[in-house]
Amino acid sequence: YEKSKEMINFLESGVYRIDSNFTFMDPVRVLNSSDYTQFRVSHSVYYNRFFECEDKEKSRVSTSSRKRKRKERKPYTLNERERSADQRHQEAKPLLLKAHEVLLGAKDLLHCISNLKCDGGNDDTSCSNGSRELSSIEDEKKQSFVELGSVWQAPLYDISINYRVDNKTTGSSLGLSRVVPAFNNLVINESCDDVEAEILNKRYVLPGDSCFYMSDLKQIHDLIPADTDNGFNLIVIDPPWENGSARQKSLYPTLPNRYFLSLPIKQLTHTKGALVALWVTNKEKLRTFVEKELFPLWGVSCLAIFYWLKVKADGSLINELDLFHHRPYECLLLGYCHGEGMNTELPATLNPLKENQVIISIPGEYSRKPPVGKLLMDYLPGPKPARCIELFARELFSGWTSWGNEPLHFQELSYFVNK
Ligand code: SAM
Repeated sequence: YEKSKEMINFLESGVYRIDSNFTFMDPVRVLNSSDYTQFRVSHSVYYNRFFECEDKEKSRVSTSSRKRKRKERKPYTLNERERSADQRHQEAKPLLLKAHEVLLGAKDLLHCISNLKCDGGNDDTSCSNGSRELSSIEDEKKQSFVELGSVWQAPLYDISINYRVDNKTTGSSLGLSRVVPAFNNLVINESCDDVEAEILNKRYVLPGDSCFYMSDLKQIHDLIPADTDNGFNLIVIDPPWENGSARQKSLYPTLPNRYFLSLPIKQLTHTKGALVALWVTNKEKLRTFVEKELFPLWGVSCLAIFYWLKVKADGSLINELDLFHHRPYECLLLGYCHGEGMNTELPATLNPLKENQVIISIPGEYSRKPPVGKLLMDYLPGPKPARCIELFARELFSGWTSWGNEPLHFQELSYFVNK
């Protein structure tokens, strides 16, 4: 009975609490339940990487892991940094194995996961072009906001937000457009419904009550509120860390670590404090940088680590847990920031951050993180509803501010289906 109650809840919210430490998440359901009223995020487009390309993916994974195994057979002594990384991994491993075991035991959930791609029935009819594969969407010329924002004409590009106003008496509806600069400008969808917007003949979906500021890091100071009461209670950051992946390099530009020291985290923090959630890779050099330099400079002490465990449609891990450079998990480091010049104690009523949380989901496109905001709401200081911001965002959420050089990336109409 408990399971089926949880399943009903999952089908509505996209979140399945397997137990107090382990949560399975269907990002598409999470987004559709809280961010969209007129459109729906398409399951088949979101999950294309692990469903449509499964055979291709399998052969790619098996040949590359064969190659890796061949390499790994050579006797190899870990250097000091690798030993520290391995130690972290060994510490996390029992928890991650337990989470995976518990997932494999939740049969009703597993059955549901295997059908996620085609959930929603006619889901494969994406808004702009009918039924098609993500690969063809990728091939299609997408707007590169990174390029667009870097040319001299960037300040001239507008976004038109198309509102629909329904006349209840006549039953008719009227279209209204608001045209504002697309770059270096806080663009707000003031309506509580999702609306369509257009830049250079490409269409995007803006969730109700969402806003974005599309700019380079150089302009991030424009987001600092004049009054700390208008600061943020939740700051989620997914920086473009440098790593060797050629795929990453072709998808978005990366920045050296020292650039993140200049992020104005304290100035963005609300008077009552903020929970800071930082996505990190498993590189030891990066973890040391965050713990020894970045968090201390931001005034954040790491209080908890949430793990994101990545699985395929059949519930198996996307890579072997022990694969050194390709772990099937990433970490979200969490801590509180008190804001510039403030020493406010966090209220005693604040729920203590839970340790040992594992969020399990099937990954979407490369580097796209699951929408963890909902799981963090219980830990936020300050007034409700909390003010939330994502830095280096590629998508928008209802009630949030998204900042980055391409916050509309996953808002393109082809990621959606009509409700
Ligand atoms: N959290 C995102 C998601 O789930 O899809 C992924 C963020 S990705 C790791 C980092 C983002 O930072 C990319 O969109 C990249 O274009 C952006 N970025 C890189 N350099 C930037 C810069 N100088 N200013 C602003 N954004 C930048």
